[in-house]
Amino acid sequence: GAALGPPALKQVKLEKESELRIEVSFNTSLHLRLLSGNAEIFGTEMPPQNWLVFPPKMKFAIFTWYGATIEMQDNTETDYVADETSMISYANVHAVLEERRNRAKASASDSHASQGPRVIVVGPTDSGKSTLSKTLVSWAAKQGWKPTFVDLDIGQGSITLPGCIAATPIEMPIDPVKGIHPDMPLVYFFGHNTPTVNADLYRVLVKELAQILKRQFAGNAEYKAAGMVINTMGFIDGLGYNLLLHAIDTFQANVVLVLGQEKLYSMLKGVLKRKPYVDVVKLQKSGGVVSRNKKFRASARSQRIREYFYSVSNDLSPRSTIANFSDLAVYKIGGGPQASASAPPIGVRRVADPMRLVPVNINRDLLNLVLAVSFAKEQDQILSRY
Ligand code: ATP
Repeated sequence: GAALGPPALKQVKLEKESELRIEVSFNTSLHLRLLSGNAEIFGTEMPPQNWLVFPPKMKFAIFTWYGATIEMQDNTETDYVADETSMISYANVHAVLEERRNRAKASASDSHASQGPRVIVVGPTDSGKSTLSKTLVSWAAKQGWKPTFVDLDIGQGSITLPGCIAATPIEMPIDPVKGIHPDMPLVYFFGHNTPTVNADLYRVLVKELAQILKRQFAGNAEYKAAGMVINTMGFIDGLGYNLLLHAIDTFQANVVLVLGQEKLYSMLKGVLKRKPYVDVVKLQKSGGVVSRNKKFRASARSQRIREYFYSVSNDLSPRSTIANFSDLAVYKIGGGPQASASAPPIGVRRVADPMRLVPVNINRDLLNLVLAVSFAKEQDQILSRY
């Protein structure tokens, strides 16, 4: 029967190099703390003794290098200890990246050698890409680097909202509950949660982001030496694969970490042979990664949108602003035939121009949609700053 009062507490003892995998209950949060020893959550050290509160549905793992005791409420969906984890192989990758960062820092005067590692993490959905990316940047931040985290995954979007691609320097290990809290992220709004809607636009935005980062790095040796970690989408077939190659090329990635798929690994290894400076590394998917179905993904997306406006702990209050329809112009990028005053010559098809700005009527169809505000002064600056 339903117990009254707060859920009972339990203690879990973790042996060295093991992890406690948790799925928080679907409707109640979980209070948990580190009683003794050392432990980390996806690369971020847990504070000793302090109670942490994890929101409903969250899935995560607490890993310990040397052993730890956790005290937690006994109210999770599931929790179990695993002694086979991927953390050691991830830490080996981290060690190699550290070496490259140190080398980059030591060659500050050489514009090429002073570039730290540009890592891209690829793999199918639910292979642990976001988790590995966050772990790597948190470990780097813990050693005092300021690596740039780039998220090209428009499906979930851990920096701002789903539908965006974004980048931000990470100066502190990522908060395991609140996630990334960027001060000044670089964000490009795509507006859909899948690239198939307008793949050309997706490519253009990826290129814009890469160019801006390149400029920032040129002016900031610290960011440049720390390099970047790029998280990608789980869409890896057909168009998805092409977009991965495009991202590898555009960001000039020199470390490609392939999670959990032999086929993708061998395809990338083959095609990247002509770029000897790129290391393609195969990594085991962690047994802890939880598969999420379509419905769960959709609800995680809505949750992200909510969090963006209200924060995880519900302590932000968005302010509404009233404006006249006549003072606003709403555009959609792509879709519709190319604008032309006259009919096309015979034999020429009207093709949809993926970069065309299409004015959108303001009506009820816009209810509950998220739009981006552009700082462009002229229409034709909406897409590019160049
Ligand atoms: P997608 O392609 O959909 O973005 P992904 O490959 O990036 O997925 P993650 O988001 O890293 O996958 O992981 C999926 C879920 O599994 C997340 O909720 C994550 O917190 C959880 N998870 C990852 N590793 C572990 C682990 N070792 N133990 C428990 N949960 C984990």
